[in-house]
Amino acid sequence: TSVAEHFVIDDQLIETIFNPRQEFSHKGSYGKAAIIGGSYGKIGAAVLATQSALRTGAGLTFTLAPECGYEILQTSCPEAMFIAGGKQFVTNFEVDKDFTCGIGPGLGTHSDTEKSFLSFLKNYANPLILDADALNIISKKSGNLKLIPKKSIITPHPKEFERLFGTTENSFKRLEMAREKSKEYGIYIVLKDHHTQVVTPEGNVFYNITGNAGLAKGGSGDILTGILTSLLAQGYSEEETCIIGVWFHGRSADLASERYSKESMLPTDVIGEFGSVFEELN
Ligand code: AMP
Ligand code: MG
Repeated sequence: TSVAEHFVIDDQLIETIFNPRQEFSHKGSYGKAAIIGGSYGKIGAAVLATQSALRTGAGLTFTLAPECGYEILQTSCPEAMFIAGGKQFVTNFEVDKDFTCGIGPGLGTHSDTEKSFLSFLKNYANPLILDADALNIISKKSGNLKLIPKKSIITPHPKEFERLFGTTENSFKRLEMAREKSKEYGIYIVLKDHHTQVVTPEGNVFYNITGNAGLAKGGSGDILTGILTSLLAQGYSEEETCIIGVWFHGRSADLASERYSKESMLPTDVIGEFGSVFEELN
């Protein structure tokens, strides 16, 4: 493999990428973010991703989820619009062409969800954010990987990475494998870990150094999906989205841990710190 360029995501890099909100703008200036996920018993994951997308500045935010999540989502996220995509789990992934979609939180892997998700992928060409059960469905057959639209962002944790691409001896080999796969499929791989690595199709690696073990809890990944979906919807490039997204997620977690401790902080508290992180950036 070719020589990789390795970068640490530092404050300076973030400052060069971050776009402050323009005075003469309106909701149409900041894109349409759509979270697709949730299933009976896992609506909370869709709630977290939706709240996270709302709190990172998308112009309009939608949640495509099953009907059993209707009241929960409309109550917990009144600013978001609900699209029914099934009864107990999602079976219809149809979305408007101008939506930027983040798919997977709480989605479940029911065979009907699997069938409709894979046929949706076959006919969809725009970059997607793919996480959690979206990745677990793709993992079921190695042939599914080539259905991922070019320039999509996938966000596997180590176990999901292993399901997608197989086991590796150590984290160095895993990173090498990620570089190969990123190039092969033309996708961005966000390898979530203590120090998350963003791997680009060009073979570059960006290391994130924000974040802490308070994130080692269910729901932390769902809010990252919300952040990434919202940033991509707002017009950041895929690479910029990954870089600011992982940094912002970790920085918010660091503020949450100062306030609540690593033990007690919840993903909801991390979302609660987003405003302070934007204040630091502005
Ligand atoms: P998930 O496993 O999908 O919920 O994602 C977990 C999220 O929390 C990812 O963004 C990880 O990078 C982050 N995370 C989990 N554990 C740690 C840790 N010990 N240190 C820093 N970040 C972590
Ligand atoms: Mg996850």
